[in-house]
Order: sequence, then structure tokens, then C-alpha cells
Amino acid sequence: MKKLAVLGATGSIGDSTLSVCRHNPNLYKVQFLYAASNVQKMLALCVEFKPRYVGLANQQASEQLKQQLQAHNLPCEVLNEQDVLALLGSEQIDSVMAAIVGAVGLKTTLEAVYAGKEIFLANKESLVMSGALFIEAVKASGAKLWPVDSEHNAIFQSMSPALQATIGHCDLQEAGVSKILLTGSGGPFLNKALSEFSEITPAIAVQHPNWSMGPKISIDSATMMNKGLEYIEAKWLFNANKEQLQVIIHPQSVIHSMVQYQDGSVISQMGNPDMRVPIAHVMGGEKRIKSGVDNFDFFSSNDFSFVAPDFNRYPCLKLAIDACYEGQHATTTLNAANEVAVQAFLDERISFPAIAVVVESVLNQLTPQTISTIDELLLIDKIARQSADDVINRGITC
Ligand code: NAD
Ligand code: MG
Repeated sequence: MKKLAVLGATGSIGDSTLSVCRHNPNLYKVQFLYAASNVQKMLALCVEFKPRYVGLANQQASEQLKQQLQAHNLPCEVLNEQDVLALLGSEQIDSVMAAIVGAVGLKTTLEAVYAGKEIFLANKESLVMSGALFIEAVKASGAKLWPVDSEHNAIFQSMSPALQATIGHCDLQEAGVSKILLTGSGGPFLNKALSEFSEITPAIAVQHPNWSMGPKISIDSATMMNKGLEYIEAKWLFNANKEQLQVIIHPQSVIHSMVQYQDGSVISQMGNPDMRVPIAHVMGGEKRIKSGVDNFDFFSSNDFSFVAPDFNRYPCLKLAIDACYEGQHATTTLNAANEVAVQAFLDERISFPAIAVVVESVLNQLTPQTISTIDELLLIDKIARQSADDVINRGITC
């Protein structure tokens, strides 16, 4: 059995991952569970999966978990932050589900990459930030990289095994690929009048029409920043250029993305919108395994439709695509400013349209830079967060 670490174990992707583990009890030993601060949920997971190691990033929560584990007579070892990095680099772990939300997931994801582990990559923000450095590190360490994000997983599944084997440095032209078609639902506001956008509340915005996800990615889906981050993610995973990448709105979320070939063929992956499908695909490796998801019923669906995204409705998507071709300093800044703006919107400190305004004004302050180390990226991330805070504190009128 392969020894699995689940980073972000108490979140939405963590839930789906552990659900796939329940359906395939002989495939993985759940060796390490890591999350931010949810003691009760982590305790319940320890009772069920009996991981050898466990961790909560929040110090106080970590102490509480230790006491609870003792009270329940559970022998799981509680790790601090430094021990977590050492564990990820050790022989105690074979495969890592990288599903911490946001830039804070970069360190642990990279640690697993440096150690040459099998990486199931859900934490798209780490690739958005560190793209070139991340892919170089994968190549250098021989880590096996599997895309978990449903679109990238669909693109991967729509490629030949030879092309899949070159993930990170694919030669799309040589393989006859003319375009990667990245689909997105358009989120809950696809048909809402633009004049009503300033009235959108966090409670409405987190209600995605098709997918059940954590709060940050749900807001990113409503602004389509999520598709922008995925555009950058696709560029790095599949080594795609501007002409080879296109975003298409497909409101039904049944086709999860497509690859168009030069002979006119379009290959896609379809299914019900449930993250257990791509997670089961990557965890199964060469073999198809049970995900617990029902097969898609073609007779229950009304139609499949496709429209081009309107950048007036989705300014964040345009900002992300532009940042993608500016460089890693721009994508790191975009990501950091967006995280701050989304949190401010969730805290009801700014309006929904203000998210794009914050990100754009932070990007406007940026000067071109060449990035060669992760520390440089972390500094840019920090400056962008400060700059986004300043923009928000000055007040935005929209
Ligand atoms: P979520 O908010 O539901 O869960 C986030 C997890 O990260 C939680 O377990 C939380 O405790 C943990 N976490 C947060 N800060 C941490 C820290 N400092 N240290 C350790 N753990 C920490 O988010 P989610 O929807 O599961 O998304 C996770 C990642 O997967 C994101 O990068 C997201 O973009 C990506 N993703 C999610 C989906 C989805 O359907 N939910 C789909 C594709 C990609
Ligand atoms: Mg996705």
C-alpha cells in the first residue's frame, strides 16, 4: 500500500480524497493528515483513519488536538510545522494530496516536489505563483505530477500516454495539438444584470450552480478568477502558448475541458461535476478505481451550450490572462492581491465588483522583475498583500 499524506484534510478536496480512500481501502495507507485549525473534524478523521502522523498549523488547535488524541487513546504523533516539512521529504510518505487552499500551500507542496514524491496537485495557487521554478523542480527531482483540478485532469485524460509522460514540458505542436479548450461554468452570475453586481453578498456568491467547494474557490468561480488561475496553471502544466489556450464557458459543467487536434478531432472528458472523479483518476494511476460518483445520465440533461467569456462581466479573467504573459512576479502579485480581496469581500468589507478593482490597482503598481528563487516570490507575495490592504483601507467606491 502506498503511504498517503493529505494536506488540507479537513477541506472540500480533503473530504473527497478521503471518500475515495474509503471506496478503495487497500490502495493507500492514510499516513499523515494536515490542516489549519479544525480540531473536532481532525479528531474524527484520526478515529476513522488512524494516521501515524497528524498536524494542525494553528498552535492552539494543535495543543487541543494532542489532548483529545490522548483522551481517546489514539497513538497518532502530532507534528509541528518543521516536522511536517521533514516528514514530507522522508520515506514515510509516497504520495501527497496537495489541497491546502491558497499561497500558504506553496511550502509543503514544493517540499513534496523537491523530495520527488507522487504529487496530486489541487493547490493551483502554488503553480500560479511559482510556475517555472515549480516545473523545473519537478523535472530535477523526478516527482510524478498528477493534475487534480477537474479541467486539467480532463485535459490530461484527453492526451496520449506519450504526451502525458511529458507533463510540464509537453511539445503540443509536435503532438498535433492545436488548442487546449479550458471550460468553465461562468459561475452563479453568468446571466445576472451587471447593474446588480454591487448588491451581490458573500452568501449568494458562494452558491456555485454545479460544484460544491470551499469558500475561496467558490468566490473565485463567481468572478472567474478561478478560470484565470487555471489558465496560468494550464500554461505551466502543458507548456502551452497563447495560441494554444482558450477559455470557453460551458454552463452545464459536464464537459470538464477538451483538447483539439490538428486533424479536427476534439477529445474531452465528461462526467458529473464531482471532484471525486479526477481524484479517483489520479489516485488510481494506471488503473480505473471506484470514486463513489454515479455515471452521468445523458437523458437527464437538457443541452450542452458554449459561449465566449465577456471580459466586462469577468474582469478578473482578463487580469489573470494578461498577468500570465507578464511573468511570475505578475502572477504571484495577482494571486496574493486576489486572496486579500476575496477575504475582504467574504468579511463584507468590500463589494463583489471591488475584488477586480483591488487586483487591478495592485497590478498597476508593479514593475517588471525577473524571478529566480522562491524567496523572491515570497517577498513579492508579501508586498502585494500589503499593497492590497492599503487599497482596501483607502476605500473603494463600487
Ligand atoms: P477548503 O477551504 O475547503 O479547504 C482548505 C484546506 O486547507 C482545509 O483543510 C484547511 O484547514 C487547510 N489549510 C488552510 N490553511 C492552512 C495552513 N496554513 N496549513 C495547513 N492547512 C491549511 O478549500 P478546497 O475547496 O478544498 O480547496 C483546496 C485547494 O484545492 C485550493 O487550492 C483550490 O483552488 C483547489 N481546488 C479545489 C477544488 C474544489 O472543488 N474544492 C477544485 C479544484 C481545485
Ligand atoms: Mg477547476
